[in-house]
Formats: sequence, structure tokens, C-alpha cells
Amino acid sequence: MPIDRADAAAAAVEADEAVAIAQALIRARSENPGTTEDAAAEVAAGVLRALGATPETVRGKAGRPSVVATIGGAGGQTLAWNGHLDTVPVGSLDTWSADPFAGDIVGDRLIGRGACDMKGPIAAALAGAAAVVRAQIELRGSLTFHLVADEELAGIHGTQVLRDRGLLTQGAAIVGEPSNLEIALAERGGAWVTATTYGAAAHGSQPHRGVNAITAMARFLLRLNEVVPETVHPLCGRATVNAALIEGGSAPNMVPDRCVVDIDRRTIPGETEPEKVLAPFRALADDLRADDPAFDLRTEIRDWIPAAESPPDAPIAAAIRAASATQTGTVPHDVGFTGITDARFYLNDAAIPTVIFGPGDLSLAHTADESIAVDELVTGARTYARIFASFLGADAGDTHTARAGYPGGVSTATAPLTVTDAAARKIAELAAKEGRAEPTLRLRVVAGGCSGFSYELGFDDAATAEDHVITSAGGVRVLVDPRSAPIIEGSSLELDPSLLGGGLKVKNPRATHECACGDSFAI
Ligand SMILES: [Zn+2]
Repeated sequence: MPIDRADAAAAAVEADEAVAIAQALIRARSENPGTTEDAAAEVAAGVLRALGATPETVRGKAGRPSVVATIGGAGGQTLAWNGHLDTVPVGSLDTWSADPFAGDIVGDRLIGRGACDMKGPIAAALAGAAAVVRAQIELRGSLTFHLVADEELAGIHGTQVLRDRGLLTQGAAIVGEPSNLEIALAERGGAWVTATTYGAAAHGSQPHRGVNAITAMARFLLRLNEVVPETVHPLCGRATVNAALIEGGSAPNMVPDRCVVDIDRRTIPGETEPEKVLAPFRALADDLRADDPAFDLRTEIRDWIPAAESPPDAPIAAAIRAASATQTGTVPHDVGFTGITDARFYLNDAAIPTVIFGPGDLSLAHTADESIAVDELVTGARTYARIFASFLGADAGDTHTARAGYPGGVSTATAPLTVTDAAARKIAELAAKEGRAEPTLRLRVVAGGCSGFSYELGFDDAATAEDHVITSAGGVRVLVDPRSAPIIEGSSLELDPSLLGGGLKVKNPRATHECACGDSFAI
């Protein structure tokens, strides 16, 4: 039985190497604003050269370096892996308990500026690629690293330069920002609004003769939350608003005639028109003016970065789900990313399906004592190795087609799910405990194909006649969720009763599958 290429790639990851690359990157200081990314770019280019790539340093007008390098063949899928070499500034050194540029390991964590955002994730991806090369796994497709400058200040001198040079051409992209190894398929955007109130100056001892612009602004700010629509995005939640900077008045003994506030209004995917975002600000101002004709507030959008989202069924998302499920035993969640990343350039400007997926906890980014768990860094490297080996292993057109005409391509004829008597008994037991008479299960294949296989299964009381029943055994009906990924024709899954937990949530059941390409794998 041939060894699965993804398993071989994951096994070839060397934990020490992943950590050493992260440490070298942390030691190559690259604060933005502050220092340039040149030292970090040189470290990354050195690693890529050792993999046999020919890294190129692309510089825009500001001269900031982004490293571009490709490994693999010319025949299959093309994948970009994007990570930023810059970090936020270190902040006050006395708030750190370790040297932020030493790359120390304290306990089980690597500490340093950029440890999680995102020199650790870059090291994980480079170590993953190194493992693919070390294990001599031939990539039919190609992996292109975009290790860029300037992400922390909006990517103008980094990924935007690559975009302008026409280098965002890949069929799929991963932006390796720290997502706790969850799959971030959407990110919020931002509208930076300047609001100005106008009053009338007067002597501070006779305030009734003037109109106080600061007091007017205060009334506006106390109702600021009203400008956020109630729309909820399934991954990003609601939009938010934050009054960020304020300035007003000219002397302690004057009635201020002007007050300016910079407002950070974060948008969700679907909010594509600046005018629509601004309209509720104006409606609130009108409302305040109805109470007080002297109220005069004007708003404008100073800067606009659109939100972005990827189709949840993009093949790269399926490949990441499968790789991660096999590596960790858990199917990662689809999530939204709260911050703005360079993924927007790939998604919005180049229409490339893009997933934000990386090790590390975003809540530790930009903090003192920024760190990443060494375990998570190494798991990230192994998962990336699997993704590179599986996603880039097949020719672009070489997909394993399931039978068409059924949800998710599943065919009744192949009856891919077997419910053993023991499993049926266990299901009936759980159903009885929860007061269900005739248990119906809903199956959603999260990822299917030679790259791996995983599914989620749960009780479903809302089944309708249109739902497609794939098997009915031992008194158990199983429906296929329409969002299900295809199951390879001829494959079989057996429901293992030992995997049925309390709430009947099954993830990554084990089964063996032999596929036409000759690979076989366990799930
Ligand atoms: Zn970042």
C-alpha cells in the first residue's frame, strides 16, 4: 500500500527547524513604522534558496522588500502563500518580561515581537515547504511565497506592489495570519469617517452668546452606536463603530467653534457602498438638528478598505479542512477575521479564492510578551506540509468526480455510509435519551477526495421530503446536507459506534479508502 504523500510530508517536518526559522526572523527586527523589512527578507530568502528556489526581491517606490519565490512544477494547481515580514513596533520595553528580539523559548512558548503576527506562521509555512522538499514529494502544481513588507500599515508598500506588478495570478491563496488554525473565510473592512461639528465662538464667560461645538459633538457621540446597522454576517457578526480621536476648541476661555472626531467604522462583507455606510451618520445628525436647529455636523469618509470574503466551498478551503482534520483530529471551524489583512488584495482585486489560515492567537498580536505555543507552530508546519502535498499534488483538471445529480454528488447507488448494527443501536439509545422517536441524521462531508476525508454528523429533526436519503439501515435514516462536499464514488464509510459521543457529534471517523489514483488513506 503506497504511503500517503500528505502523511509523508507532515512526518518530514522538523520541529527544531520550524522554531529556528521563527527565531531567526524574530531576531531580524522589522518594526513598521521603524525599521525596514530588509533583514527579515534576507532570512526568508536564505531559507527559500536552501529549498532550491530562486527568490526575487520586489521593491515598490518606497524601496521596501517583498520576497517572491516559487517551488514545484508547472502542471497543476497554483497556490500563493502570503505572510508579512513587518511587525508593529515593540512598544515600551519595560512592559516585556523577555527581550522581544531574542527569540527566547519560555516554558512551551516562543516569545518575541512577531512571534504570532506573523513570523511564527511564516516559519511554519517555510518549514512545511522544506518538509515537502526533504520528503522528495513531487509537486505537479506550484507554491509561490509572497513574503511581503508593510502589511501593518495597509500593505501599500507590500502586497499592493505585487498586485500592481501583476504577480497575483495564482488559482488559490492562503494568507497565513494567526487564526488559531481555524479557517477564516471572510474579513471585515473599514470606513474611516471624519465628523466635524461647527459652532460659534464666544467669550468663555458668556457661553450663551456662542454655540459650543464640543457639547454638540458629545451629544452625537453618545448616540454613535445607532449608526451601525443590525445586519449580521454569518462569520463576521455585526459591524462596529469606535470614536478613535478627538480634537476641539482653541483656548480655555473660549466657546469652541469646531470639534473633529476620527471614527473607525468596521464594515462587514456586503457593505460595498461608502454612501450607504455614511447615510445613518447623516440621519443621526438630522435627528439631533430637529431638536436643536443650531446643531451642525458634517461627515465624510477619509479612507475606505472594502471587506472581503471567499466562497466556503473553494477547493483550497476543502483542502485545508481535510489536512487540518487529519493532522489534529478536529475539523477546523469556518470563522471571520476581525482585522483587515492582505487577503483583500487577492479576493477583491484578483478574484483569487483565499483563506486566512495560520497558527497563533490573534489576541496576542501587537501585545507585550507576544508569543506562540511551540506545539501550535509545529502543528501549523505539519498542516501546511499536508496542504502543499495534497493541493498541489494533482493536476488542475484531475479531480475525482463523484456522480452528479445528487446533493454533494453523492449517489444512492453507491450508498457510501454503512451504519452497522452496533452503531444503529447506539444511535437509537442516544435518540431515546433525547426523546426522538425515529432518529434522522444529517451528514455533511466537510472534505472529500484524495487530499483527505472528514465528515460531520448530527441529529436533524427538520428533515423535509426534498432531503436526499442516502441510507436507511437499522431504523436510522441518513440525509446528505446540500453543502456537503462530494464523496468519492465507490468509497465507503462505516459509522464506528465508539465515535458517537454524547451529543452525537462525529468528526473524523476512521475508515479506509482506496482511490483510483492509487493512494489510500485512513480517515
Ligand atoms: Zn498580521
